[in-house]
Order: sequence, then structure tokens, then C-alpha cells
Amino acid sequence: MLSKKRYLEALAIIEEMFPQAHGELVWETPFQLLIATILSAQATDKGVNKATPALFAAFPDAQAMSQAKVEEIEALIRTIGLYKTKAKNILRTSQMLVADFGGILPDLPKDKKLLQTLPGVGRKTANVVLAEAYGIPGIAVDTHVERVSKRLDIVAQKATVLEVEEKLMKLIPEDKWVQSHHHLIFFGRYHCTAKKPKCAGCPVLDYCKFGKKYLENE
Ligand code: SF4
Repeated sequence: MLSKKRYLEALAIIEEMFPQAHGELVWETPFQLLIATILSAQATDKGVNKATPALFAAFPDAQAMSQAKVEEIEALIRTIGLYKTKAKNILRTSQMLVADFGGILPDLPKDKKLLQTLPGVGRKTANVVLAEAYGIPGIAVDTHVERVSKRLDIVAQKATVLEVEEKLMKLIPEDKWVQSHHHLIFFGRYHCTAKKPKCAGCPVLDYCKFGKKYLENE
């Protein structure tokens, strides 16, 4: 398993490769970020960004979305995978925000556990929203962060998403959690891709057993 020192060296190289790493979802309010993040599950940010301008023009906030018909939401997000389930979830989430959290709207609850009571909101979504909208430190583990962490051998291959998150929080200083999460996502999305990772000439190949094996077998 890669030591903390070696991992932080590898992470510093990853940071240099993608200094511009940032969240790619387009949003104007914490509520819109929440909805866009729910929509992004098993879908690309690009695909979500194509659909959300019309969705947010029609239903810009929780009050407006809570009064939509589910068919209206479906029609606006049908280009996104799992759109029927997601339409139900964002309608119900908006209704709960208005009914249960009306006192703090247009803000969202700044509490991970409370956010996770909303339909379609898991730990990853809650972490993204708290970090991006409010600067509350957290590491959202998506498919890219999980894959890169396993390839760099900082967790067991069978580790759960929660175990990956806990390990990253142990290894990375808290003031770098949010930015490191963006660096790891960009690295996984554009370099250490699921299929055909760019191992030949990878700047962190020296730290990566997986990459060395991959090149041997190519
Ligand atoms: Fe990813 Fe390959 Fe680089 Fe390892 S060597 S980090 S698997 S691209």
C-alpha cells in the first residue's frame, strides 16, 4: 500500500497536472447546485449542464419546483439517464425543502445528515453541495476519485466508498479536501480514465503499481 508521504507526493504531481480543476456543474444558487448534483448521478456533468438551463428557467427555486408536475420535470430532463426516478426525487426533495426546511429557504440545511434525508441525496451529493456552496470541508468520492484511489493503492480494492472517503480524509490535510477532490476528479476524468488510462508517460507512474502492470500487459 502506498505510504502517506508517497501519496501526498503523487497528489502534488496530480495538482500540477490540473491546476484549473474545478466543479463543472453550472448553477447559480445552492438549491440549483443540489438539483444539478442529484441529476449528475450516473450521468456526465456536460449532459446535466445541457438540460438544467431550461429546467432552472422554468423552476428556479424550491418553491417553484415543489409545485411542478412530475411530467413537466421529466420533459425537461429526459436527455439525462434515469430521468424518471430523478424527476420524482427532485420534486420530492423540493417539496421537503419547502415543507420541512421552509424557515431557512432559500438556503439549504448546512448539515450532512439532514441533507441526506432528502430523496436522491447520498453522502457524495451532500459533500459536494456543502463544499461547493458553503466551503464546508469534505471529500466527495465519485467514480473517478474511487478508481484513482484504488489504482494508487491507498485502499483495498474491495474498499467501500465510505472507506475511500475516510482514508482520503486521513491522508489529505483538511484545508485541502475540497480542492484535492477536484484535482482527483479531473485526473480520473481526463487522464487516469476507466478504459485506456494514459499510463505511458503518466507523471505518477513511479507511484503506481497498477500502471506498471497495465503497461506490462499491453
Ligand atoms: Fe492512472 Fe496509469 Fe497514471 Fe497509474 S500510471 S495513475 S493507472 S494513468
